[in-house]
Amino acid sequence: MTISIAIVGAGPSGFYAAQALVDRGVDCHIDLIETLPTPYGLIRGGVAPDHQHTKRVTRTYEETAGEPQVNFYGNVEVGRDVSILELRSMYDAVILAIGMPMDRGLNLIGGYKRGVYGAAEFVGWYNGHPAYRDLDPLLEDKRVAIIGNGNVALDIGRLLVKTREEMTVTDMPDYAIDKIQNSPISDVYIFGRRGPAEAKFTNVELREIGRLADCAPIVDPDELPDEVPAGFSERDQRLRERNLATFRAFSEMDPSNKSKRLHFHFRSMPLEILGGDRVEGLRLQRTVVEDGEAMGTGRYYDVLCGTIIAAVGYRMGPLEGVPLDGRRGNVVNDGGRVEDGFFVVGWAKRGATGVISSNKPDGDQVAEIIANEITPGNRPGRPTFEEHLTSRGIRWVSFEDWRYIDEAEIAAAAEGMPRKKFVSVDEMITFLDKEESRDKS
Ligand SMILES: Cc1cc2nc3c(=O)[nH]c(=O)nc-3n(C[C@H](O)[C@H](O)[C@H](O)COP(=O)(O)OP(=O)(O)OC[C@H]3O[C@@H](n4cnc5c(N)ncnc54)[C@H](O)[C@@H]3O)c2cc1C
Repeated sequence: MTISIAIVGAGPSGFYAAQALVDRGVDCHIDLIETLPTPYGLIRGGVAPDHQHTKRVTRTYEETAGEPQVNFYGNVEVGRDVSILELRSMYDAVILAIGMPMDRGLNLIGGYKRGVYGAAEFVGWYNGHPAYRDLDPLLEDKRVAIIGNGNVALDIGRLLVKTREEMTVTDMPDYAIDKIQNSPISDVYIFGRRGPAEAKFTNVELREIGRLADCAPIVDPDELPDEVPAGFSERDQRLRERNLATFRAFSEMDPSNKSKRLHFHFRSMPLEILGGDRVEGLRLQRTVVEDGEAMGTGRYYDVLCGTIIAAVGYRMGPLEGVPLDGRRGNVVNDGGRVEDGFFVVGWAKRGATGVISSNKPDGDQVAEIIANEITPGNRPGRPTFEEHLTSRGIRWVSFEDWRYIDEAEIAAAAEGMPRKKFVSVDEMITFLDKEESRDKS
């Protein structure tokens, strides 16, 4: 008997879970259900558009989608088009792989002002995510502040200071390239509450900042400690030493031949967003770092800026039938198990940490439990799910449909660019319906 499995979310963790089930030889049907008509989650909508080499991991997911057991149902939002409880009544096992799509938020005084954005929306905007393409961020001042000391902050900073020429090999939509390139931005500030040794940048991404065509990194050498403080694992110690060496090299660079600057400010805790209806600046408190924690010193300083982007983490939104951990913001689980027959993988399981490959072991873990514990054939799975979608009038997008979209995007790209993305769901569905009627005629 065949086990019927629904995986909700077609990002890396959803694909890894599907592949783990296939690799274990579990006799199953796997339905990957995705809210967007396009697969791949943050690989398409989060990973920086100038890091195409990273996006190539989708080739592996394409192979998974081609496995005979696997079906893709794009343009189906769980919670709107079908509930978790309905899915659990249709499938022997349901695996949640929905990531953490929302900004954690800053909770600063003045956070409501125009010109304040979260990384999820800002990154979604420059990546052509249909939910954020209309963000139209305020980029009218030459100074932008980014809050956060992780790679997402670096991605955003880098993309705001690259030249138009540097952007010609990306798949950033034209509206975002034009908006950034036509803005007066010359100085981007990246603020971290702790010191340079505590920053979470990976060294490869950090070094890239020193190689930009028309932007110089600015670091105050007095901010740099002679060595990494004690208390890190050996691996972390090495990583941080590399970052400190990179910051030292940055502090010795001559910025005078570049027209833009990316400033790293450490030991700076944001307190208040200044201005009237729109952002005019950011007030910060100096900190000292004790045992890895930032403590306020009562000394303040202001930085003038017209835009503030908070890259301080992600969280999940509420979804009926899914227990959330109020503190960590992830799905309550025990080794990937939420309840009998109900599982979670990826960021939704562990929180918003780790690189793409960190999501793979989650799939292996859940596949093992399913292989050992789930009794097949109790629930009908795919036919009932399709009946449900049809009865609701939902136009789902198959993987073959996605291939049409993919091909059209690649064909529409300007020379040198990898693709020109569709940025609205309506556009994608209209295009697919036209292709379908062309095939029939
Ligand atoms: C801005 C950014 C840049 C990054 N850059 C890198 C990088 O360069 N290199 C690297 O290794 N890692 C990078 N990462 C991390 C990497 O993207 C994550 O580890 C990975 O995407 C997490 O996979 P996931 O499947 O758990 O979540 P996601 O990738 O978020 O996938 C979740 C999927 O579920 C879908 N979904 C959500 N809700 C529903 C619903 N209700 N119904 C149906 N579907 C739903 C979403 O549309 C999405 O497709 C980056 C992360 C971010 C935020």
